[in-house]
Amino acid sequence: MAGGWSRDGAVQDQIDASIDDAVKLARSRLPNGEGLTHCQECKAVIPDVRRKAIPGVRLSGPRPVILRFASWLTGTLKSSSCS
Ligand SMILES: [Zn+2]
Repeated sequence: MAGGWSRDGAVQDQIDASIDDAVKLARSRLPNGEGLTHCQECKAVIPDVRRKAIPGVRLSGPRPVILRFASWLTGTLKSSSCS
C-alpha cells in the first residue's frame, strides 16, 4: 500500500497548501496600519474604542436606524457599507 500512502500524503500537502494560500490571501486583504480617524465614506469621526477594536478600520460603522431613516427621508441615503 505504499502507493496509497504517497497519494494520501500528496492530497494532504495540497490541502495544507490551499489553507496556507487562503490564510495569506485573507491576511493580505486585511487593512494594515492604524486605520483612519475619520470614516472614508461619510467623514464621521471614528471613535477610539472602535479603532482599537478593529485594527485598520476605515469606516465609521453602521449608523443607527434612526439616522438611516432620516437619510432615507431626506433622500441622502447612500449605499455605502457604513451608512
Ligand atoms: Zn461612515
